[in-house]
Amino acid sequence: MEAETGIAETSAGEGAPDSEGRRDLLDLSRTDLDAWVEAQGERPFRARQIWSWAYHHLVSDFASMTNLPAGVRQALVSEFTLGSTQVEATSTDTDGNRKQVLRLSDGETVEAVVMEEPYGSTVCVSSQVGCALGCAMCATGRAGFVRDLTTGEIVHQVVDAARTLAPRGRRVTNVVFMGMGEPLLNYEAVLQAIANLTEPAGLAINPQHITVSTIGLPERIVALAGEPYAVRLAVSLHGADDETRAVLVPYARQVSLERLLAACRTYARVRGTRITFEYVMAAGVNDSPDHARRLVSLIGGIPSHVNLIPLNPVTGCDLSSSSLAVMERFREPLTKARIPVTIRFSRGVDIGAGCGQLRGARSGPPPERGGAPRRYPRRGRES
Ligand code: SF4
Repeated sequence: MEAETGIAETSAGEGAPDSEGRRDLLDLSRTDLDAWVEAQGERPFRARQIWSWAYHHLVSDFASMTNLPAGVRQALVSEFTLGSTQVEATSTDTDGNRKQVLRLSDGETVEAVVMEEPYGSTVCVSSQVGCALGCAMCATGRAGFVRDLTTGEIVHQVVDAARTLAPRGRRVTNVVFMGMGEPLLNYEAVLQAIANLTEPAGLAINPQHITVSTIGLPERIVALAGEPYAVRLAVSLHGADDETRAVLVPYARQVSLERLLAACRTYARVRGTRITFEYVMAAGVNDSPDHARRLVSLIGGIPSHVNLIPLNPVTGCDLSSSSLAVMERFREPLTKARIPVTIRFSRGVDIGAGCGQLRGARSGPPPERGGAPRRYPRRGRES
């Protein structure tokens, strides 16, 4: 697929074999695994057993797959690794939100965030090392693009999170592609990761509990609407006109809101679902009552939910967050127009895990927050 951004695109999907010629088992689709089992001369149910050990029982080595014949275990050891990333560092904020820095096989790092709630646990996963889109308020974009993640590297973020939750009887119930990178620019690998995460014999995550968050690539949004997985879509608007949006999102100079909103309408219609529109509030940039009224006109008629998000502190970004009072005022016209809107609780900011703060090995401590309050009251959550 040709990228809409004009940015060169690679299709990662499967990673390169390691120095011993072994592939990452987590790169494989269920169909691939079925084919491998058949090629070993084994009965088909062995594929289900292997998948269940990897994704349901969450074992970290093939020796633990005790109901497999020794020969199958040996073949797995010879041909595969079980994940190719290592958890290098973990930091936890006062609310228990946990950021994991994962070291990839080539030395690069990405970050994933695990958020536990009474109703379940959400993992925010990365889809690329860095990002080419360079949004002003985003540490990932400021660090530039390095490479796409493979399917296995994406899936492993969720498997690692599931392993840390399992001893406490908890499981991963929600996955959000809101970490590092633009998921729709790594389309094939992300789609295969969704397939692996939703596979019934494994983690069995409900597709409606998976959210793909995008800066807004119209053709990819329409393509995603036609895929077999009814995932939720979150679109980062950050402005209600092209000029204002471009202050935060340089990509807005290439794709108009008119095209983007047409794709969103298609997604909502095909899926019969609402779109989540993310709107980072930057003081003096996009937060006036006039901007709010323009937003109402722009998205009126689309089944949607708007998240107003305080701009988190990011090194090198001179913009500051709108105050809570300004955000409350901005919300009024939306509420009057019966558009559901949430001022989103900002989690993990103190450990550099808030929206826009993830940046892999380039992480330092997040800069001090400026004008915005450190904690926003919770008023429901995106659902
Ligand atoms: S906000 Fe998303 S699309 Fe923009 S630079 Fe950051 S990761 Fe890339």
